[in-house]
Amino acid sequence: MAVRWDGGTGRQGDRGTGGSGGGDGVRLWQSSLLSGFGELTHGVSLRTGGVGAAPFDSLNVALHVGDDTADVRENRRRVAEEWGGDLRDWVCAQQVHGNRVHHVTTAEKGRGALSYETAIPATDALVTDAPGVVLALFVADCVPVFLYDPQHRALGLAHAGWRSLAAGIVPKTVETMQARFGTRADQLAVAVGPSLGQCCFEVGPEVAEQFDSSHLVRRPGRGKPHLDPYSVVRHQLVACGMPPARLAALPPCTKCRQADYFSHRGSAGTTGRAVALLALLQAR
Ligand SMILES: [Zn+2]
Repeated sequence: MAVRWDGGTGRQGDRGTGGSGGGDGVRLWQSSLLSGFGELTHGVSLRTGGVGAAPFDSLNVALHVGDDTADVRENRRRVAEEWGGDLRDWVCAQQVHGNRVHHVTTAEKGRGALSYETAIPATDALVTDAPGVVLALFVADCVPVFLYDPQHRALGLAHAGWRSLAAGIVPKTVETMQARFGTRADQLAVAVGPSLGQCCFEVGPEVAEQFDSSHLVRRPGRGKPHLDPYSVVRHQLVACGMPPARLAALPPCTKCRQADYFSHRGSAGTTGRAVALLALLQAR
């Protein structure tokens, strides 16, 4: 089933899509903004409905975190089934918290879908305009950023932890879409998936100094500053020329909602990953 996020108001509406209908099956978070585009499919997996044992319980879909490979493949198969696509269409990356963007072609379908070794090396953002290619990146607290250019039917998906945010992965993804597909930033629709919120994103001085103070929240008596990654993404997109209203509402915080989401910080670093998926439907 899909968990449709309306953000802002804090409401989370459930919309059945043939899943279990309860809280224990495979579930996908979706943005209401992007759900408005009928030619697009997207989502982020929640952590329930899988076969994994602690600390990967239960729907870990990442092959690089020490989980059992057979369990991960089964979980990916379940997510693909709930999502309504084929796992062999996924294109995954070996994510390194950098800012490299890769243009995915139809010929690359299946890279990283069943083994880590075949994933696209050293890459944290994927773009494509090929219908049927499923962009797939893995997250647990890091910010999944979904970009859609409805004019040129082009997609971008970025994995943005603080290092990648500071290294400009969001504007680099926009620039790559501009260069490859003719995308105009003022026509983009963008959603940010479930990720570590400002509420839980405490940072040390070496991280804080990478960002403008307008993105840091300091409260008396709270000690270290907190980084607001949503504010960083919004600021960077607006600087690219995107109207602020084209960014979807603030997503849920993964650390605050660990019953639903894997959180790297919430689990002292050993946990599973969700998958962020983005694709253009193939014309039938
Ligand atoms: Zn939080």
